[in-house]
Amino acid sequence: MRSYGCQMNVYDAARMTDLLAQEGYAAASREEDAELVVLNTCHIREKAAEKIYSELGRLAELKKERRAEGRNFEIVVAGCVAQAEGELVMRRQRAVDLVVGPQSYHRLPALLKEAREGARVVDTDFAVLEKFQTLPAPTRPQIAARGVSAFVTVQEGCDKFCSFCVVPYTRGAEISRKVEDVLKEARRLVDGGVREIVLIGQNVNAYRGEDEAGRATPLEGLFERLSEFKELTRLRYTTSHPVDMTQGLIDAHGSLEKLAPFVHLPVQSGSDRVLKEMNRRHDARLYLDAIEKLRRARPDIAISSDFIVGFPGETEADFEATLALIDAVGFASSFFFKYSPRPGTPGAERSDQIDEVIKRERLARLEARVEAPRRDFNAGMVGRTVEVLFEKRGRHVGQIAGKSPYMQAVHVEGDEREIGRLRSVRIVAAGSNSLSGEIVEAREFA
Ligand code: SAM
Ligand code: SF4
Repeated sequence: MRSYGCQMNVYDAARMTDLLAQEGYAAASREEDAELVVLNTCHIREKAAEKIYSELGRLAELKKERRAEGRNFEIVVAGCVAQAEGELVMRRQRAVDLVVGPQSYHRLPALLKEAREGARVVDTDFAVLEKFQTLPAPTRPQIAARGVSAFVTVQEGCDKFCSFCVVPYTRGAEISRKVEDVLKEARRLVDGGVREIVLIGQNVNAYRGEDEAGRATPLEGLFERLSEFKELTRLRYTTSHPVDMTQGLIDAHGSLEKLAPFVHLPVQSGSDRVLKEMNRRHDARLYLDAIEKLRRARPDIAISSDFIVGFPGETEADFEATLALIDAVGFASSFFFKYSPRPGTPGAERSDQIDEVIKRERLARLEARVEAPRRDFNAGMVGRTVEVLFEKRGRHVGQIAGKSPYMQAVHVEGDEREIGRLRSVRIVAAGSNSLSGEIVEAREFA
C-alpha cells in the first residue's frame, strides 16, 4: 500500500489496508514480495499526478517478471488520479488491473474479484456514505502498530470550487459523518492505545454532522464530546478554510484544554484581487481578523498556512501583498507551491498564465520570507515548557521522540514507557527541524 499526497489519503490507505487484511492480505515489507500493489494517488498538482505514471511503468516491469516466474502481481490505482482519469489510467498503462476512486474503495474485495475474472474494472462512484457504513473497523493490533496519533476523517469533499483546485471534482460534494459514527471510531482508536486524534477533512471546519437527536453539530461540538474521553490527551484538526472559522470554533481554542493551540489555515495569497479570482470567498482582511480572534482566544496559538505563487494574472504587486501578509502574521510554518494548471478547473483555461521562470523566482522569494519567522518561532521555544506527546523511540539509545503542540519534533532522554504519554517538557535547544528538551514533570495528563 503506497500513499501519496494529503492526510485524507493517509487515512484512506489505512482503511484499505484494514479491508484487505480481512481478505487475508498482510502488508509486504518489500515491494518485490508483494502480490498486490495499491497506489493511493494524488492529483493536486501535475507533478504529483505524473509521478504515478512513472511508478506504474516500473511496476509494469515488475509484474512482467513476476508473471514469468508464475507468481501473482496485481496493480490497483486508487485515490484522486483514479477518480480524475478513470479509464484513461488503464489506457496509459495496460498493466493496471483495477482503478478505484476515493469514495468507492470499500468495494475493493468485490472489484478485485471482478478483475480476476477478466473484467477491466473502473469504479469512480461517489458512494461516500455507503463507504463509511461498510468499512471494517481496524483491529487492536492494527491500531497499535500505527502509533499513538491517529487521523479520523469526519468530513469529505468540498463545495468551495477554488478556481485552481481539483478537489471538488475528485472528492465530490461536502459530506459530514454523523457524530455518533465519529465517536464510535474514536472510542475504538482510544481503546487500542491512541492518545491524539486529528480530525480531518478537505474543509474540516465546515463540518456539520448530525448528532443523536438529529441536530447539526459544528466541529467544536465534536471536540467537546471527544474531550470527555479521559485517555485522549490531545485533539487537532486539519484543513480549515478561513470562511468557516466560526466564533464557536475560535472560542473552543480558549475553553478546551485538549485542543492543540495550532491551526493550519491556508490563505493561498495576500492579494484581494487574486483571492477573488481564485474564488476563495474571503479577502486578506477576513483572514487577518480570524487570526486576531484566534490569538485573543488563545494567546499561545500558532498558525501555519499554504501559499500558491504564480496564479494566472498574478502581478508583482499581488505577490508583494502576499509577502506583506506573511510579515503581518508571522507563520510558525508554511507550505508553498507554484501554481499548477489542472485540467477541468477554471484557472487552467486562462490565457494569462505566469511564466515558469517568474513562478520559480517568486517561490524562492516566498520561501526566504517564511523561513525567518519559522526559525524565530523555533528559536523562541528555548526556555519554554510545553506539553509533548511521546510517539516513538528517538534515533539514539535512551532517547524518545514526540511532538510539541505546534507539530515540532521534540527529542528527550527518557524511558520508552513514556511513549503514549503527554509530558511537560522544558525546551533546551532548537535545531532547524527539531527541538530537544527535558521532562520537567512526571505528571501524566491522562
Ligand atoms: N482544502 C484545503 C484548503 O482550502 O486550503 C486544502 C486543499 S489542497 C489538498 C492543499 C493545498 O494544495 C492547497 O491549500 C493549495 O495551496 C495547494 N494547491 C491546490 N491546488 C493547487 C494547484 N493547482 N497548484 C498549486 N497548488 C495547489
Ligand atoms: Fe480545493 Fe478550495 Fe476546496 Fe480547499 S477549499 S479543497 S483549495 S476547492
